[in-house]
Amino acid sequence: MQSFSYDQLPSRVVFGLGALDDLPREIERLGAKHALVLSTPGHKVQAEEVADRLGDRCVGIFPRAVMHVPIEIAREARVEAQRLGADCAVAIGGGSTTGLGKAIALESALSIVAIPTTYAGSEMTPIYGLTEAGLKKTGRDPRVLPKTVIYDPALTVGLPVGLSVTSGFNAIAHGVEALYAQDRNPITSLMAEEGMRALAQGLPRVVKSPFDLEARSDCLYGAWLCGSVLGTAGTALHHKLCHVLGGTWNLPHAETHTIVLPHAIAYNYAAALEAMKRVERALNISHAAQGVYDLIRTLGAPLALKDIGMREAELERDAELATQTPYFNPRPPDRASVRELLEAAFHGSRPKASGLAK
Ligand code: NAD
Repeated sequence: MQSFSYDQLPSRVVFGLGALDDLPREIERLGAKHALVLSTPGHKVQAEEVADRLGDRCVGIFPRAVMHVPIEIAREARVEAQRLGADCAVAIGGGSTTGLGKAIALESALSIVAIPTTYAGSEMTPIYGLTEAGLKKTGRDPRVLPKTVIYDPALTVGLPVGLSVTSGFNAIAHGVEALYAQDRNPITSLMAEEGMRALAQGLPRVVKSPFDLEARSDCLYGAWLCGSVLGTAGTALHHKLCHVLGGTWNLPHAETHTIVLPHAIAYNYAAALEAMKRVERALNISHAAQGVYDLIRTLGAPLALKDIGMREAELERDAELATQTPYFNPRPPDRASVRELLEAAFHGSRPKASGLAK
């Protein structure tokens, strides 16, 4: 018999083709009058379009979000938000832009409206991250959960195919870990499975035709569900490893998740069989670790950490960083076997059905 508690996080989601048109109404609904628009440098034009839609409710644009939220940028954005008297941050972009909004909200009463353009899922979580002196620290705070999230598939058609696939696997990784996370419950498991199913159906169609709005919509819907379970059910070894690799060596976030995922699944396979059966059902594969690996290969995404800038000499330190403080994982993480997992991910070898690739 199961027992659980479930906190549904208080955010409003507006989903659909053309949903961006609702932005002024959503800002009004929040009672916000002074919006600061955030983006990465590459998304400045989109940020300007958003600012135009907001008219005199927009007080400025801060187009300088970067991956893993360096503390220096966060401080500059906080000063700018305060100088402009912003009561709302409109974050258009991926997890890096949402992350910058969270860094501001952590130290002010400002609300966030997130307009995601990748599948990272940060918009659905109260988790924030800040990187200082090469170390990424994360925490949870209800103040950083976006009040409103606008999902418009039209905004994702320009997401390059390669990043669409790896960002999709980033979302699938949230779903996988939510199925065996310590705080999982029947609702989060349903959402995780449905989210992964939608992504597995959408991603191959996006690879074939990046402008297929139905396929984009499926992926964004999957990303929403997988982001939601990341926010409520929690994570385990896979996310810990990606956090260490990303924060310490500044490896690209979505690619790192994609490469590590089959190996983290292999590591946990025997200790979380019920979750693995659900992964297999959702993705329509016969073995969770091997099937995810094969799917990544078929969709043309990277398979080896050595191909995205990791150096072999760093494996030992990462294994140490990933195991030095205790946290929940179905199979307890020890340094030697985590080192072995990382080595398999470094070389990009196909996991064995019985466990890790050698
Ligand atoms: P990102 O936000 O860094 O975006 C990657 C690149 O893609 C950027 O250059 C961006 O400008 C570009 N881009 C984004 N959307 C685009 C589009 N539609 N078309 C063309 N280009 C586009 O990458 P990400 O993977 O979305 O986010 C990664 C960051 O988010 C990491 O720092 C990670 O730690 C964080 N994250 C946090 C959480 C959380 O819950 N706190 C969850 C997931 C990710």
